[in-house]
Amino acid sequence: MKAIIVKQPGGAEQLEVAEQPVPVPNPGELLIKVKAAAINRTDILNREGRVGYLENPILGVEVSGILETSIAGIEAGTRVMGLVNGGAYAEYAVMPADRAMIIPDNLTFEEAAAIPEVFLTAYQTLFWLGKLQENETVLIHAGGSGVGTAAIQLAKQLKNAKVITTAGSKEKLDFARSLGADVCINYKEQNFDEEVKKATEGQGVDLILDFIGASYWEKNLNSIKVDGRWVLIGLLGGAEIEKFNLMDVMKKRIQLTGTLLTPRSDQYKAELSTDFASNALELFKNDQLKPIIDTVFPFDQVQNAHEHMEGNRNIGKIILKTK
Ligand code: NAP
Repeated sequence: MKAIIVKQPGGAEQLEVAEQPVPVPNPGELLIKVKAAAINRTDILNREGRVGYLENPILGVEVSGILETSIAGIEAGTRVMGLVNGGAYAEYAVMPADRAMIIPDNLTFEEAAAIPEVFLTAYQTLFWLGKLQENETVLIHAGGSGVGTAAIQLAKQLKNAKVITTAGSKEKLDFARSLGADVCINYKEQNFDEEVKKATEGQGVDLILDFIGASYWEKNLNSIKVDGRWVLIGLLGGAEIEKFNLMDVMKKRIQLTGTLLTPRSDQYKAELSTDFASNALELFKNDQLKPIIDTVFPFDQVQNAHEHMEGNRNIGKIILKTK
């Protein structure tokens, strides 16, 4: 089969299409004929050799496709989507059966590939870790990102939350507003902490979904409510804070949680997929939730797909389509 591998750790030019053996499923795993995969920041970190969570030489953590052989009550030919332990950028991939989700009939394979990683991450961080409650206020950074666009929709549709979001362009903020965001802040033109205070009558937000890390540390501290929750899921603005005072965390009684989905156990991913499927999948059938696709790239244009993400140009997901 054709698959995308990394020649050696480095830039997008290191990605190449190569012949690889079709993977052999272990007991309890599905063999999927991949129709589409999606690009994630974790793939870029893997390509650069900066993380090594997955042993698979083929990149990619999510697919949509067609089940090759019947297993565990799922018929061959069924359209499925979900997280894989690497190996998504390929014509065939294996997936533990207990995390496969049946694709709603109204969605294309490209749309389905835009769901697993970002919607599961947003669902896990908003509800499992962030404990978002009905009508609370949540600050979702990177409002045009894959995870951000998923989180805005989930927070509105499942908890009727007040959503405050930040992004770096009017286009991204307009899009976030169209998904239901209530307050949209251009972080390049405004101090987001001042705007958050204005929008919350000086109280701050109940929950922050933080993809940015170091460069937003101070402003996030100013934006969070006393007893607020803060879930750190990305470090796009750096990992190291030069100077900070732990008293700030104590004074506001902040609950700060960090998480990474890819290195989580198979059992965790299965439980998360099952919970998401039972509480949220139905909402894709009547467009209450929508997969957000920025661009679909043909398989052999994977280098362009990675560069597109690294240029921060996408709103929503970047998809790789096999033939
Ligand atoms: P994405 O679609 O590529 O969007 C990321 C956006 O973040 C960029 O388009 C850019 O938009 C903004 N950004 C980049 N650098 C920034 C900076 N220094 N300051 C402020 N904004 C910045 O990303 P994604 O796939 O949704 O992923 C979002 C983040 O979540 C990534 O860090 C990813 O690694 C992380 N993630 C974590 C987990 C986990 O389990 N922990 C799982 C999935 C994803 P603007 O134009 O608005 O600047």
